Amino acid sequence: MAFTLPSLPYDFAALEPTIDAQTMQIHHGKHHAGYVTNLNKALEGKPELEKKSVDAIIANLAVVPEDIRTAVRNNGGGHANHSMFWQIMAPPGNGGGGEPAGELLSAINSSFGSVADLKAKIADAGAKRFGSGWAWLVVKGGKLAVGSTANQDNPLMGDAVAGFSGTPILGVDVWEHAYYLKYQNRRPDYLAAWWSVVNWSKVAELFKAAH
Ligand code: MN
Repeated sequence: MAFTLPSLPYDFAALEPTIDAQTMQIHHGKHHAGYVTNLNKALEGKPELEKKSVDAIIANLAVVPEDIRTAVRNNGGGHANHSMFWQIMAPPGNGGGGEPAGELLSAINSSFGSVADLKAKIADAGAKRFGSGWAWLVVKGGKLAVGSTANQDNPLMGDAVAGFSGTPILGVDVWEHAYYLKYQNRRPDYLAAWWSVVNWSKVAELFKAAH
């Protein structure tokens, strides 16, 4: 078994009231766990792929045998996306929420004008993503950019695969499984509330590593 489900860095209920405990439990314990199980199944007997990191695998899907490529794209993407998602969130008022600072703040201001403008761009990208997918903040060519991908695609997969590219430093899951129990069809409400659990120190750390 190459890949394992990472533990959540907080309790299931820690992101309340923004994200309810039951959603977290199902999201982590069923959805993310399922991606890990199915990724391992697809990679069985492929030691040269199993020894890579999941980010390295999804960044080079062209070398993945065609008969397992779709499974690796969906489940490897799912594993990578959720592993990051748990890390860039924290309990509201206890690591989550507030505002970005330092170099990250300067980069946001110079790329988008303000943090409010960045939030509006992410909200727009997430709301306009038809069906399931993710909205992202990425570093690309030394600059910040916002976009979205379908299903479990990740910007690391590149433009040709995912339709958007870069090194992700923040991503928000807009699959219904991420919000439906609490927000039902109100995806924009979920996206607006989500900022209160964003762990900006972690995003800053990823920003530092990505540029
Ligand atoms: Mn999800």
